[in-house]
Amino acid sequence: RKAGYAIVGLGKLSVEEILPAFGSARRSRAAALISGHPDKARQLAQVYGVAPGSLYGYDDYRRLRDDKDVDIVYIVLPNSMHADHTIRALEAGKHVLCEKPMATTPAECERMIAAAKAANRKLMIAYRIHFEPHNLRAVEAAKGMGGIRSFASTNAQTTTAPNIRLSKALGGGPVGDTGVYSFNTARMFLNEEPVEVTAREWRPAGDPRFREVPASVSYTLRYPSGVVAHCDTSFNAAESRFYRVTCADGVVHMDSAFSYHGQQLRLTAKDGTQIPRIRAIDQFAAEMDHFSDVVLDGGTVRTPGEMGLADQRIIAAIGEAARTGRPVRL
Ligand code: NAD
Repeated sequence: RKAGYAIVGLGKLSVEEILPAFGSARRSRAAALISGHPDKARQLAQVYGVAPGSLYGYDDYRRLRDDKDVDIVYIVLPNSMHADHTIRALEAGKHVLCEKPMATTPAECERMIAAAKAANRKLMIAYRIHFEPHNLRAVEAAKGMGGIRSFASTNAQTTTAPNIRLSKALGGGPVGDTGVYSFNTARMFLNEEPVEVTAREWRPAGDPRFREVPASVSYTLRYPSGVVAHCDTSFNAAESRFYRVTCADGVVHMDSAFSYHGQQLRLTAKDGTQIPRIRAIDQFAAEMDHFSDVVLDGGTVRTPGEMGLADQRIIAAIGEAARTGRPVRL
């Protein structure tokens, strides 16, 4: 059978990516919608075949508990609401897939993990890059290149107002929103956690978008192996989403690394290895299907709450390093 999902929050990501992705999902289906906008929920329910009785408000988690059609709640709300909704969904006996970044503080992440343990339910963070075939192939390619020496990455875009990403109260800011892709992906290559962070941020004077959050943040992460990741992220630049993994015997280049489509993987390897064309997939369908497999059949979540917590600690450390101008130990 397919796992039933209740989608919470019907904003841009839900409407443009997640709901359409059920069309190509193997083991996942839209079973319910949870929204503060009943009209919008009714309209979308018609399009995606969700029954009128399966529409809920944000305060309806008690009623959701009895909805046997819902196995998983997918949290697609502003970051500041992730912890509260995740915990309420877990307490209602549902498994939870929560959008990145996991929350707004490490303490919130710890509460979410504890709630999943107490409820004996699974908690996954929606890090879709772990299910994207070019990125998975890139990690394999680097393994054959004699050891990683450095990781460089940019994840930048132009963010226009109004936007939840520009609000401090809603948990916005470029590091948690876009920057997190760089260090979450670095972990896939390095399999280790950074021990020290440095950071500098840029708030252009007179731009009202950046009263509450920085426009750009540049940062370095130092790992126990000695590798340093140098990264930057921006809400005030042309779209640029790449990484470059420099190894002893070659370099892995990935453009559009964190985009929904269009990954461009290229190697410059001493032995001339190249990578044959890789078929593109719907990352959201693949990510949901992984969680459905684990929920329905058992197994281990590839991107669990603990990974979200590790990233949240890095987000906090980058914030502190940028504020103080000093390196922060992790
Ligand atoms: P959005 O602003 O388009 O949607 C937010 C939703 O939350 C809306 O439905 C809105 O009505 C609802 N909401 C409830 N209370 C709100 C409040 N107080 N203020 C504002 N909105 C409120 O945002 P989005 O782009 O859909 O992002 C939602 C989440 O998804 C975020 O956590 C974001 O980081 C994540 N996201 C992930 C990806 C990805 O590729 N994995 C891409 C985009 C967004």
